[in-house]
Amino acid sequence: MQDSKFISRRNFVRVSGAAAIGASFIKFGDDLLLVREASAEQASKPKTPVEALKKLMEGNRRFVDSLKKSPRRTVEVRKEVAQEQTPFAAILACADSRVAPEIIFDQGIGDLFVVRVAGNVVNPSNYGVLGSLEFGVLALGASVIMVLGHSRCGAVAGAIEGVQKGTEFPGSINNIVNTIGPAVEAVKDEPGDLLDNSIVSNVKLGVDKLKGSVPVLADKVREGKVKIVGANYDLFTGEVKIVT
Ligand SMILES: [Zn+2]
Repeated sequence: MQDSKFISRRNFVRVSGAAAIGASFIKFGDDLLLVREASAEQASKPKTPVEALKKLMEGNRRFVDSLKKSPRRTVEVRKEVAQEQTPFAAILACADSRVAPEIIFDQGIGDLFVVRVAGNVVNPSNYGVLGSLEFGVLALGASVIMVLGHSRCGAVAGAIEGVQKGTEFPGSINNIVNTIGPAVEAVKDEPGDLLDNSIVSNVKLGVDKLKGSVPVLADKVREGKVKIVGANYDLFTGEVKIVT
């Protein structure tokens, strides 16, 4: 009850409006006790994978156009989501310091379930990535998973060097680079910029791995409960484009 809020009678009109979006009240003397305040934004939480993707892309448009709302970052929302999180989307993004999903999609606390690893790789031997995304879907109810690559990705550039020159990288960096290798191989003879093509190829490879992942994600996709998409973020323009 520590998040509850007293509403006086003179504010009843506003309260009635809130009731329409799902808050409930207990009469308390002359006041009404707002048991659970549901913000308009929470009430508009996407109900389908298509709506979830639309909400993400609308947020990115605000970011690109410098119209960002920086929603749901208030003390009230912080306390609200401390009780329970219900992110509408899961994002697998690169660890790159310039690709922060909550910022580039203009979302708030508790909206996105974010997994970040250099090169946004889905490596079957790295259970942390796959297990986290499965948890985001099964336990938290995210209805869209986005694999998000980005321009000038250093991990993909390293993978190109590995494929073209056989360069070995120290420690576990080499495992990441080797995971991206097949994505580079798939497009190395295609026209255009090899880095740009490999970045998109790596995103598509990741999406394919997730869509085929049994027993959790493949079933959810087949049932239409979850949509898995791949996208590419432009560091200069701030724009996210769906690539698969
Ligand atoms: Zn990167």
